[in-house]
Amino acid sequence: MTKILIIEDEPAIVELVQLYLEKEGYETLTANDGIEGLVVVKRAHPDLVILDLMLPELDGWEVCKRLRSDTDIPIIMLTARSDDVDKIVGLELGADDYVAKPFNPRELVARVRAVLRRVQRQPADPMGDVIKLGNVEMRLSSREVFVNGDLVPMRTKEFDLLHAFMAHPGMVFTREQLLSQVWGYDYLGSTRTVDVHVAQLRQKLQGSQLRIETVWGVGYKLCVDDE
Ligand code: CA
Repeated sequence: MTKILIIEDEPAIVELVQLYLEKEGYETLTANDGIEGLVVVKRAHPDLVILDLMLPELDGWEVCKRLRSDTDIPIIMLTARSDDVDKIVGLELGADDYVAKPFNPRELVARVRAVLRRVQRQPADPMGDVIKLGNVEMRLSSREVFVNGDLVPMRTKEFDLLHAFMAHPGMVFTREQLLSQVWGYDYLGSTRTVDVHVAQLRQKLQGSQLRIETVWGVGYKLCVDDE
């Protein structure tokens, strides 16, 4: 059974979210503050964490940072409308998604389902030689990319960029992160380089189930379309 931990100090919200999640067949765990949340994660290994930003003891920002420092457990943040969404879903915090309060519990359940689906679709062995997402297959040792079984020629940086995306589908990358990951920290070019290569990759991925989406004000993420 999929276990979901709700870290939130408002009992009414906890109860509501629990009700909706359990109706969908999820097992729920709860924690009333940030410290307790971290303890429950360690003890119970939930499959996903719903994390409120405003918490006693340790706030959601800090809990998220600590969780990210040693796990890749999926995190959905609950935020007030005014909170800095770019920071939350960008890599600064590394949450997988967020829902703004006040929210419709059905919407939250839908996000939970979507994040879990995304995570379960990630390659089981990202360090292995082959990454397969949808109808795209990437062979790392031979640096080949196949769309629907057909080889699609890639330049060095296009390949490296696609590799960064395919290793973390659904994750939002900033241009700066892509620049340092693909071109190296000492690269002096501008983030425009990233945009140009993303445009080229989009061309080459036409007809595939992979889509590089622009996340306005943040950067890019890779989406996998259903067949
Ligand atoms: Ca709260």
